[in-house]
This record gives sequence, C-alpha cells and structure tokens, in this order.
Amino acid sequence: MTVLPGFLDAHVHLALIDPAGLTAGGISRVLDLGGWTPRLATDAGPAADAGPEARFAGQFLGAPGGYPSRQAWAPAGSACPVAAPADAAAAVARQAAAGASVIKVTLNSAAGPVLAADTLAAIVAAAHERMLPVAAHTEGAGQASAAFDAGVDLLAHTPFSEALPEKLLTAMAGRMTWISTLDIHGWGHPTRAFAVASDNLARFHAAGGRVLYGTDLGNGPLPVGLNRREIEALLACGLTPDEVLAALTADFPSRTPVHRAAGPDAAGHRVTVIPGDRPTDPHDLAGFTDWLLGARSQPARSVPAPAVPTRSLTRPDLEDLES
Ligand SMILES: [Zn+2]
Repeated sequence: MTVLPGFLDAHVHLALIDPAGLTAGGISRVLDLGGWTPRLATDAGPAADAGPEARFAGQFLGAPGGYPSRQAWAPAGSACPVAAPADAAAAVARQAAAGASVIKVTLNSAAGPVLAADTLAAIVAAAHERMLPVAAHTEGAGQASAAFDAGVDLLAHTPFSEALPEKLLTAMAGRMTWISTLDIHGWGHPTRAFAVASDNLARFHAAGGRVLYGTDLGNGPLPVGLNRREIEALLACGLTPDEVLAALTADFPSRTPVHRAAGPDAAGHRVTVIPGDRPTDPHDLAGFTDWLLGARSQPARSVPAPAVPTRSLTRPDLEDLES
C-alpha cells in the first residue's frame, strides 16, 4: 500500500452535507468556503479519529443583496454584506474572531449586485493584514479579472463564465491558486460551462498556475469523498498523475510560510492510505484513477509504523533538539 499526506478537498460546504462518509471516501482535510463555523469548541479541535480536519471561511462577504444572500440553499446568516470600504475591516475581523483561516468574497454579477472595486480592495487589504488569504467566487463577465486586479489569492472555482484571455491567464498563473470544481458543471453530463472551465484550467495549468483539488461539495449530486469525475477532468486538462496528487496533498491555503516536515503525516493528523500498486505506466490514466479511488483516510497513528517511511531529521529539527 501507499501512504500519502491526507487528501484535501479545498472547497466544501459542511452546512449542506453529512460529512460522515468523507474519510471512508479518502478525504482527510476540508476547507469550508462559506456558511459554516464550528458551533462547539469541540468541533474545532478535531479529535484525530473523528473525521476530516476542517478549516473554514465563515460568512460570505459580498455586496448588500448580492450572492448568495438571496439563494434558497444559503443558511440564514451565512452572508455578511459589505457596503463600503469603511465596512471591510469589521467584516474581516468578524470572520477572524470566529476562527476563519481564509476570507471568502463573492463576485457574482449573474445573481445580483457585486462588490465595488474599492470595497473589494479594502477587504483584501484587511485580510492580508491578518495574514489571511482571500478566496473569491467569480461568476459573470469580467468578475475573475476584477478579483485578480484586487489582489485576491484564490479563485474558489475555475472561471466558467467566459474564456479568459491568454495575457490574463498568464498573469494569474504567476500569483493565484485556482480550486478546480469542474464537475459541478453537469455532474457527469458536461455543460457549456464545463467546457469553458476545462479550457481555462488547461491553459492556466500550462502557464504554471497552481491548482487545488476542490469539489464544491454541497452543490448538487456530488459523491461524499474523492470524486472520480473531478479527477478525470483534471487529468483531461493536462495535469499528470503526480500533479493530481500534488493538487490533493497541498497544504491548506495560507499566507503564512508553512514549515512542513517531511513524511506522510506532515499535512495533518490523518494520512491517505491507498491499497494496491500504482500503475507504473505514466500514460495509464484509467489505471491511475482506479488505484487512486481506493484511497482511505486514516489517523496517522493508526498506520503501522513500517508502512510510514522514516523521516530523516533536518537541520531545523536538530536545532530544536539542541535548544
Ligand atoms: Zn461553494
């Protein structure tokens, strides 16, 4: 079997799903991108055996009356209206006080008013002052570009409203991370938006852009756990199997430098265990996907010691020991 760092689904909505099956489905870590905060202190500190490690954005920051304040699926209180630049710092502070590790903004011109450029810039500045990255839902012409211009760090979805020009894609690839969420466009019955998003992602990836695996779990009929169709879509966009694994095992988004130790449990309390042998032929994408879909999440300490490669002590470790 293979032991890897715990897989991350970087776009979920825990308020809209039953997360019980996530670990059996191979997911060790989730990033909730709006509408959920831990209700109890015990929810926040994951007992290593209880379920995936969850980090979250808290409320959706958007224009008053904007997305998703009028959406039927959005739990009451999940939107935080930000009317003007002067309101930005308090809105960000509120999420930080609730324990958010990322700030979510919405720019959806198809569903209502969107944040003005100065208000969006003020939110980004307030978040960055607290070392929190900003993730944006962008939908409608020009919204992905507006997010980039304002200094947004992550796009919560691969842009799907329009084909982005090469120059913008290249600029984005140098500074942004995109969360894939391709399968929400049809759930196996690909729509026009699926084609637009896939084309954008393929070009963003080719330009060196950083991609995280994310499903928008809670949005429609998605499997609770690793989504075969999302994996297949990433491979179809030109990510190699190793790049797909990198998209699954990345650290939680952060603006603080991550000092990660080597070893499969470095990313958290849980690891990914995949039985069987990974196909040796790098072109056997179907075989890779079948192998990958056997993934299970397990508490790191439950994995038999011989299966975990021994991590060698690095210079900083030795300095810790010496001090
Ligand atoms: Zn979402």
